[in-house]
Parts: sequence; C-alpha cells; structure tokens
Amino acid sequence: MAFTLIDLPYPDNALEPAVSANTLSFHYGKHHQAYIDKMNAAIEGTDHADKSMEDIVSAARGSNQGLFNNAAQSWNHAFYWHSMAAAETAPSDELKAKIDAAFGSVEELKTQLKDRGAGHFASGWVWLAEKNGELSIEETHDGDTLADSGFNPLLTVDVWEHAYYLDHQNKRPAYLSAVVDHKLNWAFASENLARGSAWTYPA
Ligand code: MN
Repeated sequence: MAFTLIDLPYPDNALEPAVSANTLSFHYGKHHQAYIDKMNAAIEGTDHADKSMEDIVSAARGSNQGLFNNAAQSWNHAFYWHSMAAAETAPSDELKAKIDAAFGSVEELKTQLKDRGAGHFASGWVWLAEKNGELSIEETHDGDTLADSGFNPLLTVDVWEHAYYLDHQNKRPAYLSAVVDHKLNWAFASENLARGSAWTYPA
C-alpha cells in the first residue's frame, strides 16, 4: 500500500502571516510530498508495504536510517499541519487542568515552548506531550519523532529552517512567536489527550 499525502486541514493562506501560502507551497507541496514519495519507494515490494506508517517508523528505527527518516518526517509533518489552525482554538477543561498543573498557565507553557524551540540546536521538533497523565515539553532532533515513543504527542512545532526561512528569514524566535501565540490548534491537542494514545496517520 502506498501512502498518500494528507490534505491540508485549511486553505493554504490560512496560517498567514505566521506561515505563508508560499512557505506551504514548498514545505507541504515539495518537502512533505518528497518524504512521502521516498518512503513509498523504499517500502514498495518489501515486508513493510502493508504496515501502518507508525509500524514502519518503529521497525526502521535503529535499523534502516533512510527509511526511518522519510517515514518519521512523513508522520511529523502531517501531525504538524494539524497542530496549527487559522485561528487559535481553546484547550478543553481536561487539557487546561493538566497545563496548569505542569506549567502554571497556558501563557507560561507558550513561553517555554518558544524558549525550547529557539534554543534547539539545528534542525528538529519541539513537542507538547503526555505520558502517565503528565504533560512535558520534548525535543527531537532532525527527523526523529514521538510517533512510536511511548509519549502521547499533543502538539508539535517544526523548527527546521525550511519551516520559517521564506517568511522570517533566520529569525526563528519570530516564527515561534507567530505560531505559538496565534496559531496553535488546542482543539487538536485536546482530542489527542482525550484519546489517550498517539495520533495515527490516516490510512
Ligand atoms: Mn519541515
């Protein structure tokens, strides 16, 4: 089975000015499509061909770095598109209570997400995640993912330079402020928390 690039959950200009339609034309239309295409080429005719994307990530981790990178990046980008919304949504009461317990407030969580994203060395991802009922901020490097980690990822922000260079040039903190302060999809995070297990790529 070949995987299909998921549809963006909003029009390509919905995230402006944080993330422009021009950025999405490259980041979604070229980069994400390329990860999907390379993963499909790598699994065709192998015993990975009938697996879920999550099972491919897990099987390739530590044993097939090329396949792992493309499968993990296919998953990470789909999760990232859903982690943003045209207008900031509100966390559920359940999520709000867990954020308050772990960080003190939503505003403090946002500050820490921006700080961790800005401080992340080189390429990677910053995540809000849940494990054993507690929330934490996690970072993964390069294409690494929380898809098969034992964490329940709630939200992610891409801090690879290709995520922001066209809109914010080298100013990663400006991109992080624009996304974290105005475009996070807390409704998606709330759904992920309520489900209690990691989001899965649509079959
Ligand atoms: Mn990216």
